[in-house]
Amino acid sequence: MIVAIDGPAGAGKSTAARRLAERLGFRYLDTGAMYRALTWLARQRGVADDDGAALADLARRHPIELESGGVVRIAGTDVTEAIRSAEIDRAVPVVARQPGVREVMRRRQRELADAGDAVIEGRDIGTVVVPDAEVKVYFVANTRVRAWRRQAERPEIGSDALVTDLRLRDESDAERTLKADDAVEIDTTRLKIDEVVAIIEELVRERLPA
Ligand code: C5P
Repeated sequence: MIVAIDGPAGAGKSTAARRLAERLGFRYLDTGAMYRALTWLARQRGVADDDGAALADLARRHPIELESGGVVRIAGTDVTEAIRSAEIDRAVPVVARQPGVREVMRRRQRELADAGDAVIEGRDIGTVVVPDAEVKVYFVANTRVRAWRRQAERPEIGSDALVTDLRLRDESDAERTLKADDAVEIDTTRLKIDEVVAIIEELVRERLPA
C-alpha cells in the first residue's frame, strides 16, 4: 500500500510521515530530500541551479540513496545535515522546476514506490508520481504556524526572514504543489502530531484488506 502525503513546506508532512511509517512498519520516502540532495551536489560541482540539462545529467549519474534511519546520501557523501540549510531551502525550487530533473526524480520515485508498502511525502505524489496511491492526504496550515515550526529547525534565521523565505518558496512551488481530487485535506494548524497521524492511520486501516 502507498500512502501519499503532499502539501507545502512547514505543514508537518515529514514528522507525520515518519511517525506513520514507523507505526505501520512501512518505508518512509522523503522526495523533498532527493531534490535537496541534487541541489547540494550541483553547488559542489559548480552546476547552475537553472541549467536543466546539466542538472538532469547529474541526477541520472548520481541516484540519491534514502537509507532507513533517515540518512540521505548522494555521490558517496552523507548529506543528511547539509541539505537542511536556508541556502538549500532557497535554491531547491529552482532546481526542482527543471523538467529534465523532475523526469529523472519521478522515475526513481516510482521505482521506490513499486518496491511495496511506503509512506511517500512530497508535492506531487498523489497527482503525478503515484496517482493510484491507496491513501492520499494533502496538508495545509496557517503560514504563521508553518514559519514557527520551521524556526525550530532553522534557528540561525530571524523570524521575518523565515516568513519571507516561506512565502517565496510557496510561490515558486505553487505550480507543482498539487492536491489530488481524491485526497483528504488535513488542516494541521491546530492539531498535534499524534492527532494527525491518527487521522491518516484510520484512513489506512479502512483500506487495508480485513
Ligand atoms: O519537502 P521539502 O521542503 O524538503 O522540499 C524541498 C523542495 O523540493 C520543495 O520546496 C520543492 O521545490 C521540491 N519538491 C518538489 N517535489 C516534491 C518534493 C519536493 O518539487 N515531490
